[in-house]
Amino acid sequence: MRIVILGAGPAGLYLAYLIRRRNPRADVRVIEQNPPDATFGFGVVFSERALEFLDADDPETHAAIRPHLIGWRDITIDHRGEKVRIDGVGFTAIGRLHLLQVLQERLEQVGIVPQYNQAVASVDDLGAADLVVGADGVNSLVRRTFEGEFGTTTQTMSNRFVWYGTRKPFDTLTQTFLETPEGHFNAHHYRYSGSMSTFIVEVDEETFFRVGFDAMDEERTRAKCEQVFAATLGGYPLVTNRSLWRQFPRIWNERWSHGRYVLVGDALRTAHFSIGSGSRLAMEDVIALDRALEANGEDVPAALAAYEAARRPIVEKLYAAANASIDWYERFPEHMKLEPYEFALSYMRRSERVSLEELRRNSPRFIAGVEAARAKA
Ligand SMILES: Cc1cc2nc3c(=O)[nH]c(=O)nc-3n(C[C@H](O)[C@H](O)[C@H](O)COP(=O)(O)OP(=O)(O)OC[C@H]3O[C@@H](n4cnc5c(N)ncnc54)[C@H](O)[C@@H]3O)c2cc1C
Repeated sequence: MRIVILGAGPAGLYLAYLIRRRNPRADVRVIEQNPPDATFGFGVVFSERALEFLDADDPETHAAIRPHLIGWRDITIDHRGEKVRIDGVGFTAIGRLHLLQVLQERLEQVGIVPQYNQAVASVDDLGAADLVVGADGVNSLVRRTFEGEFGTTTQTMSNRFVWYGTRKPFDTLTQTFLETPEGHFNAHHYRYSGSMSTFIVEVDEETFFRVGFDAMDEERTRAKCEQVFAATLGGYPLVTNRSLWRQFPRIWNERWSHGRYVLVGDALRTAHFSIGSGSRLAMEDVIALDRALEANGEDVPAALAAYEAARRPIVEKLYAAANASIDWYERFPEHMKLEPYEFALSYMRRSERVSLEELRRNSPRFIAGVEAARAKA
């Protein structure tokens, strides 16, 4: 079987690795528009147990990723200058480039080097293949080509976000919320290596236009964000990497495959960065696809149906959680009317997955803080 994978992000790299590891003679090509060391963004987070899925099936890849992970136990919500600490949550983070490098090395060990610097303009240019995998991310060419067949829906969020890095080493994953005369600002920030942190700035639409961000270039935007978050950054500059304002697209596909074409990762569905699961979901998608291919041999339609049947229920749950989280962020200025502890509680319960009982069990110090604040009110 000839397999072509479009895109060498986490999904494309890991799928090629899994297929070739299982079958050393598999005919797999990976095509990527960028050079191997180009990447947008900075670090990405995984929840603490997010990489356990790797440990059972692929301990070597897990072992290769693990040394690059930075972990911490608490989240901090900084609202009205009060830092509310939420214990017992647990996250790990890694530089996106490091993650890609590890996966590239794994792939090379099974004898595959992606064809880099090849921007594909049409699926007709992909060459002969029995299976074409769209691992080509949020703006997927494969998805756009067959939008009707996949039943794609895209909803663009109104908040604006911009992805920076900074050398300031933050203690925990922190969400800083600020209200200024110009509007409402949020920063998601966390350390992802010994020397770097991610710093994503998010604003509601009203603030975006009131500040005049729409008329600012990358440099002026950076300077303005630095000024707004001066106290949080403590003198450290923001570092840019194609750091332009974007609106998050909520993408879903009713059907995951069409003929010999199948979607995985962000091409298939987006998961908002506030739940920190996009890279993990992408890798889990391709584990499911590889298993379906293994179970169904050369029967591509049966394999693609099995992939969707196995994966869909899990993805639907996470997609719902991610969307609830997006909705919370879309209304964050309204939530900011809450007192710090109530605000932090609303943040923790935004994806509607965490009950108060669970919070009491996992984050006893935080819940004690909520109760103490209520008693004082
Ligand atoms: C601000 C922000 C913060 C995030 N934070 C997190 C986080 O904390 N944790 C987390 O897990 N995830 C996070 N994500 C999401 C994560 O980056 C994605 O979910 C993940 O990269 C998806 O992997 P993928 O392989 O499906 O797609 P991608 O990583 O987007 O890879 C797709 C690849 O396809 C290539 N490609 C596309 N079109 C073509 C073409 N026509 N020809 C050739 N090549 C092409 C692209 O160049 C790219 O390399 C974040 C995303 C954003 C925007």
